Amino acid sequence: MRYAAQKGTKDILPQDIYRWHKAERTFADVCHSYGYEEIRIPTFEQTDLFQRGVGDTTDVVQKEMYTFDDKGGRSVTLRPEGTAGVCRSFIENGMTSLPSPVRMFYNITAFRYENVQKGRMREFHQFGLEAFGSEGPEIDAEIISLLTVFFEKMGVKHTKLCINSIGCPTCRAQYNAILKDYFRPHMDELCDDCKARFDKNPLRMIDCKVEGCKKYAADAPRLIDYLCEDCNNHFETLKKELENLGIEYTIDPGIVRGLDYYTRTVFEFVSENVGTQGTICGGGRYDGLIESLGGSKVPGIGFAMGAERFLMECEAQEIAFDKPDHVKVYFADLCPEAKPVISKACLDLRKAGIGCERDLTGRSFKAQMKYANKAGIPYLIVIGEDEISNGKVNVKNMADGSSEEILINGITDYFGNK
Ligand code: ATP
Ligand code: MG
Repeated sequence: MRYAAQKGTKDILPQDIYRWHKAERTFADVCHSYGYEEIRIPTFEQTDLFQRGVGDTTDVVQKEMYTFDDKGGRSVTLRPEGTAGVCRSFIENGMTSLPSPVRMFYNITAFRYENVQKGRMREFHQFGLEAFGSEGPEIDAEIISLLTVFFEKMGVKHTKLCINSIGCPTCRAQYNAILKDYFRPHMDELCDDCKARFDKNPLRMIDCKVEGCKKYAADAPRLIDYLCEDCNNHFETLKKELENLGIEYTIDPGIVRGLDYYTRTVFEFVSENVGTQGTICGGGRYDGLIESLGGSKVPGIGFAMGAERFLMECEAQEIAFDKPDHVKVYFADLCPEAKPVISKACLDLRKAGIGCERDLTGRSFKAQMKYANKAGIPYLIVIGEDEISNGKVNVKNMADGSSEEILINGITDYFGNK
């Protein structure tokens, strides 16, 4: 029997992990600088939370969820995204009483039963954040700027920011009627999903990925032309604030986002390098979500970035990631007596936070040297009978071949000062 990773899942191997660590640390650092703290939420929740939170009419809920009954007969679902879980936690933990805005970021795995293709997996990672208790639009611009700072710190250029406003329930009601009038004569030619969306959530029809529907969606009336005064002012201020921050944007009236709960501001960062849909990151405002999940009336905004797609973008832009030297020094032994001396030296170095390695597999001296070379460990110390009796060793710098004689007792100090 040969086991293979499940379709749409991927190992992240030790030789690649430094790229992930860099992105994760940079994202956390940037979030911290904006006053966000990390939240860790469970991997699975009660199915109903996602049906309500993500929305019944979305592809995610209709087609993509990993849902099963647990042994107690409860329907549970592996999180397809982070927002619903964070909102549940916000309500459950009484965070409404905390000073606003309550700001949290996360780094999660997410699960969707998808048609696997480039940039589209069944288990993937999202870097995201949510902010509760501010109606914006200053905070909307702020979280967009957070993303631009993250991209800048990672060295990523040229990702395109697209923004749109999808209004509030007031302007949406009027617009939905107009949209239905537009689609009604074409109903026979639309897909079954769109037929269902027509009654439940016509805005979703704009986002349909089926070719036959796309051509009608492209010419459909645009919600942005029907915003109420408050929503219009909100959007205008957002645009001004983005201009104030020097952030370039394009207005794309076609963005409605994949989740049902968005109101007003929606945005995406897109790129040609990350697969068919091209979205690296999507986000928006969800002013009615907390209330619809049983909380009080608290506005919210957030985004989620596909980590795999982001790293794909980094690769396409040939971003250099420095591979850290976790192991600084290799000890090679010339005789059995050297082994305990090396063990002790290694322990001291590691206690001081300095990475080191020695032979653990009974290799010959020659094989140890070969190993250290191949592993690219920057410094080498050979210990044999002479070194033990003199109490001194040579530290060899593998990059330039130079060496320096130091006391065995001084090894930790020597590397501590490097
Ligand atoms: P798409 O239109 O590409 O299906 P979506 O609207 O379903 O995206 P969101 O639910 O907004 O995506 O998720 C936010 C981000 O998570 C996306 O912009 C994308 O980068 C990433 N993402 C979503 N689904 C997947 C997936 N199956 N595999 C990898 N990344 C994904
Ligand atoms: Mg999707």
